[in-house]
Amino acid sequence: MQKPKLKNCKACGKDISPLSPFCRQCGHPQGSAVAIWLLVLFGVILMAAYLAYCLYGITLCR
Ligand SMILES: [Zn+2]
Repeated sequence: MQKPKLKNCKACGKDISPLSPFCRQCGHPQGSAVAIWLLVLFGVILMAAYLAYCLYGITLCR
């Protein structure tokens, strides 16, 4: 009896949750590219906010 909600990792074949973008066993990214792109977008936004904050601080110090 297998649980149908689990899917197999593309790299190592282990059962992982279909909601997780990465395999918990080997870290291989899974098919749901949307989740990965959301993570990348979040990182880019975080970097942009950090850079804007730094530039804002530099302009304050002048
Ligand atoms: Zn894996």
